[in-house]
Amino acid sequence: MRIDLVPEIRYRLMPREFLFPDLTHADQQRNADWLGPQLLHPDTLAVGMAFQAYLIRARGQNILVDTCNGNHKSRPSAQWQHDLRSHNFLTSLADLGLRPEDIHIVLCTHLHTDHVGWNTRLVNGEWVPTFPNARYVMNRAEFDHYKAWLDRVDDPKKVMHGSIADSVLPVVDHGQAEFVSDTAQILTEIGEEVFLSPSPGHSPGHVCIHARASGAEAVVSGDVIHHPVQLDMPDLVMRADADPDLAAQSRRKVMEHCAGTGALLCAGHIPFHSISRVQEGGQAFRLAPAG
Ligand SMILES: [Zn+2]
Repeated sequence: MRIDLVPEIRYRLMPREFLFPDLTHADQQRNADWLGPQLLHPDTLAVGMAFQAYLIRARGQNILVDTCNGNHKSRPSAQWQHDLRSHNFLTSLADLGLRPEDIHIVLCTHLHTDHVGWNTRLVNGEWVPTFPNARYVMNRAEFDHYKAWLDRVDDPKKVMHGSIADSVLPVVDHGQAEFVSDTAQILTEIGEEVFLSPSPGHSPGHVCIHARASGAEAVVSGDVIHHPVQLDMPDLVMRADADPDLAAQSRRKVMEHCAGTGALLCAGHIPFHSISRVQEGGQAFRLAPAG
């Protein structure tokens, strides 16, 4: 088994307000020595972010976890992901030796717009699954929540900027969606397993993906953790957390798990340290090299 990073956007500075309205200059100064100006700008408090997926390869199965922003998606209220025409994502997969048709399983940590974008691509004016041979596995509770919301509105753009309509439903319509529980086992072999664990709060049915082999583990944490400053401040509210208290509980749980077991933390929004270890120190946590 191995896990690799699949970058779409490796680094971008985002305004503080976009992520952490409560972040202060005192917080920046406390973390300046280990985060540096690229991750947390001393003057503006702008935060460095990435948009990256992961590829787990085990037992001949190519498992893609999350699919970033995607191309041609109309997101006028979010310019950084609006109508992208980027080759980065599919090139990242090609660099790992894979074509879209080689992906067997797409796992979704949650259904927000920057995690389902490459689920589909535009072909002759229609959204079709990017990965024609994949089953797209998602937590049923997460799908049901957004589908029910979509059914209540007159305009699909009102739900997650249109991403449920353009990046999730086409997969369902093509018969490639598979709905599972938040503890589902995806791969169960002696000594190797891939499974989900519940981590609600950022979205109602958010899950983490665990990959274990030969006693080693990696946790793909989706949007449980957006930025390394949250290791210092696990309770720091991220603007888009649907239930901030629950999100903070899930965040602590993942950090404690990684710190306690030595599992790799795979947090795709964290640039430069996208596969790391977690160290516990007093009330806070820190990232450490994967080694
Ligand atoms: Zn995200």
